[in-house]
Amino acid sequence: MSDHFDLVLGTANAAKARELRELLAPHGFRVQTLADLPDFVDVVEDGETFADNARLKAVQQALHLGAWVMADDSGIEVAALAGRPGVYSARYAGPDATDADNNAKLLAELGDLPSEKRAARYVCHVTLADPQGQVRAEANGECRGRIRTAPVGSNGFGYDPLFEVVEYHRTFGELGSAVKAALSHRGRAVRAIAPQLIALAERGQWLAAAPR
Ligand code: IMP
Repeated sequence: MSDHFDLVLGTANAAKARELRELLAPHGFRVQTLADLPDFVDVVEDGETFADNARLKAVQQALHLGAWVMADDSGIEVAALAGRPGVYSARYAGPDATDADNNAKLLAELGDLPSEKRAARYVCHVTLADPQGQVRAEANGECRGRIRTAPVGSNGFGYDPLFEVVEYHRTFGELGSAVKAALSHRGRAVRAIAPQLIALAERGQWLAAAPR
């Protein structure tokens, strides 16, 4: 592994950072998360789409840190709720909502809708910005499933105990991290952006775009 291909993951969400780190591990990048750094920007995520917010996070953090930054913006869209919570997934039940608060609100909103009307999908957009704040690569991924009527399992984070992967008849709360990595929106997005990262590294772009 080269010491030069440093990449900062622009997220303060520890569970998300762990998944991203594991997904990137095979590709030879030396990965740090915001938690490894002495300071970082508290980015206001006021975009209307996952792509808008991923770009805001990657660009602002890259300019602040003078580093290559990959940011993920993700969430869950529920068909019966016209796509809500969508970009508001992290704060669905309010600005300081916990995962349990958000899950409880989602269950309340869906009430006793039958399982065939509880379709949902996870969506993830990943953006790579260089140390000058230019967007250099982007990709997205999605994973379809449905919302259970009660949480099951303690793996994963966020809505995972409610999100059933239909083919497996299990929630991401029950399925292990390897299965989640193979099927999830985040796994798909990282596998889609990885060749772009590798191409930039191979073309020497990592060194050409040196930090300020
Ligand atoms: P973000 O950090 O602004 O991108 O918000 C992501 C939010 O979407 C999380 O706080 C969760 O509520 C939800 N979310 C995104 N990805 C996942 C996942 O893989 N499992 C469970 N919840 C997720």
